[in-house]
Amino acid sequence: MSNATATPAAEARCLRCGRKIKTGSYGPKCAAKIRQAAIAEARADFTPDQQAKAEELIRDGGLVPVRATARNGNLFRAVSSKGDATYLVTAHGCGCRAGVQGRRCYHLLAARTLAIASRRSLAKAA
Ligand SMILES: [Zn+2]
Ligand SMILES: [Zn+2]
Repeated sequence: MSNATATPAAEARCLRCGRKIKTGSYGPKCAAKIRQAAIAEARADFTPDQQAKAEELIRDGGLVPVRATARNGNLFRAVSSKGDATYLVTAHGCGCRAGVQGRRCYHLLAARTLAIASRRSLAKAA
């Protein structure tokens, strides 16, 4: 019986520190560091006030994943600061008043942060 083709245990090494890993491109610690760096980079585009608001939004569960889109990554629904409205937001655009005027709103940062945090394959993330 030739069932399940056993995947050969190809030796993988972390691209960052060279340590042996089971799968993927980075060990968990390096992956976490890379994610942290990516999040810090995303935050740098926003004011401290926006950074605080984005954190609060995520912490309060005010950013809910809706679905993955082919072109813009994950689509989220964000709850407004007063809790009386919701906006659709991706890492690239937001439907809130500031967002539709082409301004960078903190929803964008929150969406980017969650998108980075949920990245599975860091290798593919350019
Ligand atoms: Zn590593
Ligand atoms: Zn917005």
